Amino acid sequence: MVRKLRSSAQVDPVRRGSVRILKNRVAKRALKTETSVSFAKNVPKFAGESKYGPAETISKPSSTIKIEPDEGISPTSLTGIKDEGPLDFRIKYEPFETNPLQVFPKKDESPANIFAKSTLTEEEHSPSNWTQIYNKVVEMRAKFIAPVDTMGCERIPEQINPLIRHSNPKVFRFQLLISLMLSSQTKDEVNYDAVSRLNHYFLTEAGYIDGLCIEAVNNSSESTIDSLIQKVGFHNRKSQYMKKSCELLRDNFDGDIPKTIKEIVTLPGVGPKMGYLLLYKAWNISDGIGVDVHLHRLATMWNWAPKTDKPETTRLALQEWLPKEYWADINPLLVGFGQMVCLPKGNKCDICSLATTGLCKNVNKKVLKLRGDPKRLIDVQKGRGDLTHLIRDIEDLA
Ligand code: SF4
Repeated sequence: MVRKLRSSAQVDPVRRGSVRILKNRVAKRALKTETSVSFAKNVPKFAGESKYGPAETISKPSSTIKIEPDEGISPTSLTGIKDEGPLDFRIKYEPFETNPLQVFPKKDESPANIFAKSTLTEEEHSPSNWTQIYNKVVEMRAKFIAPVDTMGCERIPEQINPLIRHSNPKVFRFQLLISLMLSSQTKDEVNYDAVSRLNHYFLTEAGYIDGLCIEAVNNSSESTIDSLIQKVGFHNRKSQYMKKSCELLRDNFDGDIPKTIKEIVTLPGVGPKMGYLLLYKAWNISDGIGVDVHLHRLATMWNWAPKTDKPETTRLALQEWLPKEYWADINPLLVGFGQMVCLPKGNKCDICSLATTGLCKNVNKKVLKLRGDPKRLIDVQKGRGDLTHLIRDIEDLA
């Protein structure tokens, strides 16, 4: 029997070619109607990946299924070993020759730490030197990967399941919403782990082929959800919000993310910051700037927005003068910079290329004096990511 590998199939990019023993109701239920079913793998944790690992796809067992791939996957075959009982069956499959991510080439997407420079000149109503500051940050960001680049809420669904945006856009949008809802007052790393945990639970324990999906949340108790997101800040309230939002999505929005900011912010726990990020990432609609605490802090520090403790004021100020083509980039650009170089406490002016340009008026001169100090360079690297390339490329360091 020859089947086409469905373009929606998810393929494990990390571990290929293994014999799996599946013995749970997930497989039994899903395979009655589906050609393939996804399972999260328990693989060791490594940078940018939850301990639950990426998803894999195992196809419906049969005597022998030859997979005839499309979209560029090299030919391979899959041999199903006959169902050996009502609960257990085994599947053997051969490794893929080609990186499965090539199924959907991301022609229009550059790596998460690469941003376009501004070629504009300042206009009267925009802050002086903003393009110079912006472009300096773009240059620095290209030299390190920040937590937001791999575990930021906008990245989580595709990190957990690399093909989900294309294979199941509705679930992708929903997982984006949940990633954003859990992200406030929570580090990216913790948030990433919580969303992975939810997905893993719903996929393997609760039996939902889509993992973290609206039906799974609607059919689960608040206490179950809460127990899975314990490490997230304000987890009690967030599990309530998740439940209520899912009911609203099901009842008012056909189980999908709405397409206007007005509707999105009717979901409990979702404000403009999350709303605009969601709107852009889910629907490619850029109607406003999602302002994270790092963007808010840096924008006020550089006088790009009035001194205020309200990110909403910063959002409105930025939208007044920042050209629209930078609205999507400005948040991840500056969040990563704020996570790795210009931290809320302990900014690393000695490795920041703005420090000696006169562009930043907030240089910590004591810290700048440490520039090139070997002991300091060791301390500077004790952080949330690898700054080696940035440090190496600062010419006047010792
Ligand atoms: S305060 Fe220091 S680290 Fe932050 S932007 Fe200014 S020079 Fe760079």
